[in-house]
Parts: sequence; structure tokens; C-alpha cells
Amino acid sequence: MRTDFPIFQTHPELVYLDSASTAQRCAASLEAERAYYTEMNANVHRGLYDLSESATRAYEAVRTTVAEFLGGVDACGVIFTRGTTEGVNLVAQAYLRPLLKAGDEVLVTALEHHSNFLPWQAACEAAGATLKMVNLQENGALDMSDFEQKLSSKTRLVAVTALSNVLGMSPDFQSIIKMAHQVGAVVLLDLAQWAAHAPCEIPKWDADFAVFSSHKLYGSTGAGVLYGRPEILETMAPWQVGGGMVETVTLAGSTFQKIPHRFEAGTPAIAQVLGMGAALEFLMKTGWNAIQKHEDVLLQKLLGALKGLPYVKILGEPGRAVVSFEMEGVHPHDVAGILAESQICVRAGHHCCQPLLQSLGVTATVRASLGIYNTERDVERLVRGLEAVYHRFQ
Ligand code: PMP
Repeated sequence: MRTDFPIFQTHPELVYLDSASTAQRCAASLEAERAYYTEMNANVHRGLYDLSESATRAYEAVRTTVAEFLGGVDACGVIFTRGTTEGVNLVAQAYLRPLLKAGDEVLVTALEHHSNFLPWQAACEAAGATLKMVNLQENGALDMSDFEQKLSSKTRLVAVTALSNVLGMSPDFQSIIKMAHQVGAVVLLDLAQWAAHAPCEIPKWDADFAVFSSHKLYGSTGAGVLYGRPEILETMAPWQVGGGMVETVTLAGSTFQKIPHRFEAGTPAIAQVLGMGAALEFLMKTGWNAIQKHEDVLLQKLLGALKGLPYVKILGEPGRAVVSFEMEGVHPHDVAGILAESQICVRAGHHCCQPLLQSLGVTATVRASLGIYNTERDVERLVRGLEAVYHRFQ
């Protein structure tokens, strides 16, 4: 796998354990961007000449790739965004805000990243609606009885992550979607972490909205996806207006294109979208069985080794790719800073999940997160590094 990632040629000794923040780029993604700029650089949906037609075809082909990647959805529900954060903001402003009234409720969980929390908080504040948060159990698992208690006919939308970027734990989002639909609420599923590690099955799960970012999937930065159920997207007014999304524009008023283009105003991130498409193809070609087998072995090795260090405390019960921990007597920033001296990259801090850390009663953690290029040697170097950090503080 490592040979598919040029960064490891530039930095052969790099131990990169921060893929939950941003993953390294696969060669196919870099090559797709380069090929766009050198072989077909032109705007999409505009020109009548070959270059523009090729660029448009390649850009629209990524929509089909995304539809396949999401488990076989209708490609007209696939909207290109800058990433997860933009997708959530789009739904909060273009879907939720116009229908939200005082007295309505929106439900998030304590696992959410700020990106899947703040846009809902802002929409609720503007409408006089109430934002409620589903609590965690002591082991970090989502408290489903708290969810059932807080879900009601007042709930307009439930926002939930498929995989926590702090605990590596997944809530039972399939049950959440079913129960939310029973009270008439729609569900936005945050796939930012999940999508690099497990297949997305939107039709089976029946999610109304789903979001992810290309840069966590070994693809380009500046690109991502919002999937919306087409029947819902059809009812939504454009979020941003400008070139590329109109039918007619007059002083008296304007009409807008059909979905999905209605939600893609202005020149899009063409090269980045093509880079994302190549990364998704790379993932699908690699296959989820191979990816999961590899990452499960590494996760178990990592968990086993951390449990062997008596001064390390793992938070929650990580099940996939992400492990947060604390080291007795050493601040997480010191842990990460000292590991960095040996080219070991982990993340320290609140990981943009302050409500989650508040419910766990901690202010910061060290987080090691895995990608397909990690090796058993990476895990060994991390563990040796942690031993050295601890002994430096004794
Ligand atoms: N949700 C989750 C679960 C995440 O891990 C992240 C990124 N750390 C985001 C949302 C936000 O993604 P982006 O910064 O790519 O918009």
C-alpha cells in the first residue's frame, strides 16, 4: 500500500498516525489532478470546445462514481461541496432553516464533531428552536434510551456521525434512522470518518442526507460530497446563487437549474473533484475486505500494546481506526510534541469535539488514527515512542 502514497518516498521514516485529521494522498488522486491541468484544463458546463467537453464529462463521471461509492444512490442527489463542513452547513441553511419554527427540536449526539453541531446550533438559535444532545454511556457508547427519550414529534432533524473521530466508536445509526423516520424527522449522517474504513450503504440505511470529505479518503483537499434524497433536494431553494446554476436571469426574477446543479454555484473545484473521484476508485478497487482486514489487525495490535502500558488509559472502546488515550502525568500536547521529534505524527487536543470531551470529563486526549498505509512497524514505533515520553517525565 505504501508505494501508492508518494509522501512515503519523500519521508521514508514518517509514522503517520493522523489520518482521521487528513489522510495522505494516493498517487491516483494526484495523477488525476495533474491530468486535468495538463490535458483538459477548461471550465465545466460552459465551453462548446473539446477541452471543456472533456472536463465536463470527467467531472460528471465523478458524480456517478460517488453514487456507486455510496452504495448505489441516484446520482442527481450527489452535490459536490468543499467538504463535510460545507455539506452540513448547506443542509442547515437551505433545508432546515426555512422550515424550523419556535418550539421545534433538532437532535445531535455527544459524539459529534463541531462541524455537525455548530450549524444546527446556529439554525436553532435563529429560529427559536431547541437543540438537544443525546448523552453517552460511561463506556463512550451512545445512550440509545436517552435518544428514544429525546426523540419526539417535535424533532425535525437528527444529525449523527457514523464513526466518532475521537473514540473510534459507531453509534447504532441504522436504528437511529429508523426511529427518526417513525416520528417524521429526517437524518443527516456524517460519514467523514466512516467512509475511509467501511462501505457506505445509503439505500439500505435509508439516510436522508449524508456528507463526507475527499481529503480523509486519500483524495484532494477542497472537495467533498453532500448526498441528499432527491425528493427532498427538489423542495429546497438554492443555497448560494451565481453562475452555472441558473436557467434564466432577468431583472424581474430568475429561475434555477434542476438538482444537483442548483446547489453548485460558481466554478467548482474541478481538479479536486477529479482527484476525489480517483481516490474513491482506488478505494473501491482495493476492496473493503482487504482494507478492513489490514486495519483490524493494526487496531488490535495497537490496542493490545497500549493496554500493556500501565500509564496509558484508552478512552471508550475503539472499534475502528481511531484510538484516543491519556498518559498519566503527561499533557497530551507534550506527548504529541515529543513523538513528533521522531517523525511520529499523532494528534493532541479536543479534536473539534468539545461537547464529547466535556461528557468524558477530559479537556484533551492523544489520538492515533490509522490509514491503509500504516504498518505493524508504525505501531511498534509509536509504542516505543510512548515509553520514551513517559520515562522522560519520571
Ligand atoms: N465530522 C467528522 C466526524 C470529522 O472527523 C471531521 C473532520 N475531522 C469533520 C466532520 C469535518 O470535516 P472537514 O473539515 O473535512 O469539513
